[in-house]
Amino acid sequence: MARIFSGIQPSGELHIGNYLGAVKNWVQLQATHPGAIYCVVDYHAITGSYDPAVLRARRWGMAKSLLAAGIDPAKAVLFMQSDVPEHTELSWIFTTITPLGDLERQTQFKDKSAKVESIPAGLLMYPVLQSADILLYRADSVPVGEDQIQHLELARDTSRKFNLKFGVEYFPEPKPLLTPTRRIMGLDGNAKMSKSLGNTIGLLETDDEIWQKLRPAMTDPQRVRKSDPGRPEVCNIFQLHKAFNDETTVTNVAAQCRTAGWGCMDCKKVLLEGMVQELTPIRRRSEDLDAEPQQVLDALADGGRTARGIAQQTISEVREIMGLGAMTAAALG
Ligand code: SF4
Repeated sequence: MARIFSGIQPSGELHIGNYLGAVKNWVQLQATHPGAIYCVVDYHAITGSYDPAVLRARRWGMAKSLLAAGIDPAKAVLFMQSDVPEHTELSWIFTTITPLGDLERQTQFKDKSAKVESIPAGLLMYPVLQSADILLYRADSVPVGEDQIQHLELARDTSRKFNLKFGVEYFPEPKPLLTPTRRIMGLDGNAKMSKSLGNTIGLLETDDEIWQKLRPAMTDPQRVRKSDPGRPEVCNIFQLHKAFNDETTVTNVAAQCRTAGWGCMDCKKVLLEGMVQELTPIRRRSEDLDAEPQQVLDALADGGRTARGIAQQTISEVREIMGLGAMTAAALG
């Protein structure tokens, strides 16, 4: 059975973009891959300037949303990265086998470092920590969206380099496990859905709040009048139908759009129904967790203990392989 690892930034409560692009798939995978490891990667959230109080609230918001969205601590391991300090130890070890040039070439580093005057070394080392996150659990499968496949390359390289340098077959080469939902664009239809761009819908928003955002959302730009036939394949609302509605509804939406049987408002109302059906139980679970926050704390504590057990075993074996294991009189000869 493949071991799955995936991480998510502590960006506060989930929105439908990261729910559809990652977490919904995580929930399905925990059924087929018991023991899947899901991590809130809070060490990754400190490479830029930030407010500690905001970060604390966002870590909490993300952990709570993941549980509300259906991550089940009885099936999966959910934990906070900073509860397992072995991530940073393995990251240091990997910096010693990672060429500087490979890090400087990373697109994300080039983009982000161009925007700051003084570049924190953590920004450069970020992908090394990412490799450590995955390989610490010797995960062989990483659920990712299409646009993240290249992020896995460094982890695969690192695994190969470590095994070659020490003449072992210790780390697996983690493979991408493609998330079925295509990348969801923001409601403005222009950019990836992102909280900072304000073009998304929060997973815990009320039915009315969802409708207020859906109503003005971008559709097929060529469809000006209700009598104009639409092109579902270029419409972002249609992508959302595919994510939230069953096949029969989706087929009907496409037909109604192409024949101008429905206007875009009719179409959005059908989408709203599908969204409300899927998101209401999530919102209810979140309200329950708000009423009993100890459930979140217990889940994270249990997950942290399990993750740390695996991580300590890996670190102990890695130290042994590297000549850093415990020194004993017998071993010294
Ligand atoms: Fe998009 Fe629906 Fe309007 Fe067609 S009818 S353009 S799928 S919102």
